[in-house]
Amino acid sequence: MKQFAVIGLGRFGSSVATALARMGCQVLAIDSDAEKVEAIMDEVTHAIQADARDEEALKAAGIRNVDVAIVAIGENVEANILVTLIVKELGVKCVVAKALNDLHAKVLAKIGADKIVFPERDMGVRVARTLAAGNVLEHIDLSPDYSIVEIAASHRLAGKTLGQLNLRARHGIMVVAIKHGDNIVVAPGAEDVVREGDILVLIGPTKVLERLEERE
Ligand code: ATP
Ligand code: ATP
Ligand code: CA
Repeated sequence: MKQFAVIGLGRFGSSVATALARMGCQVLAIDSDAEKVEAIMDEVTHAIQADARDEEALKAAGIRNVDVAIVAIGENVEANILVTLIVKELGVKCVVAKALNDLHAKVLAKIGADKIVFPERDMGVRVARTLAAGNVLEHIDLSPDYSIVEIAASHRLAGKTLGQLNLRARHGIMVVAIKHGDNIVVAPGAEDVVREGDILVLIGPTKVLERLEERE
């Protein structure tokens, strides 16, 4: 089982920590604010009050045993950068850091952060995409040009087989799975039928996927 540390228990950090714990992961939660620690204590494996800039305190908390550390300190950019550096130097293999802006992200990358997240910006993009393309439920970027999306099949796609829709030949889109209620057909073939309300998992060029419904 993977072990995680979440440093900074604001809205983002506490949400990451409790979500990980609910998935059954070991979670060490750290914040300098006693109230934040108190609030999360019952939900995670260990909750510790400490200033994460204090290297000795981090060591004592057992930070070196975790597989992944998430630095979720927000407003205080200096503390965020320092803590990322310390955790990396203490030998944590994977450090995920929250960035406030592009310059901050550059600094984090330079000091060895393995993954950088922009929670507000990323969530904004997600919400915008979902609102703009009403039927897109999930969107995963694979590269700048390709994505996996989950869409709810509208009447335009419904009632036809994959062979009739011919998405692969016409649009370069592969149907990876068709979900119908509790049933799922993985790697469907030309004979499989799409029904209205089915959830389709598609892989293909992002531009085409975004406009699929208009094109059909
Ligand atoms: P969010 O948007 O996720 O709510 P935020 O981006 O507004 O958070 P802050 O509230 O500035 O971020 O910081 C998140 C948490 O990090 C706070 O609970 C704060 O107490 C904690 N924190 C800040 N500096 C340190 C530090 N040096 N050591 C430990 N915790 C810290
Ligand atoms: P082709 O060589 O033309 O791709 P094929 O021999 O693979 O066809 P089938 O598997 O019978 O033929 O599929 C016929 C058509 O049905 C494909 O060209 C494709 O457009 C569509 N199709 C079948 N399965 C899928 C799928 N999983 N996703 C998208 N399209 C599919
Ligand atoms: Ca914030």
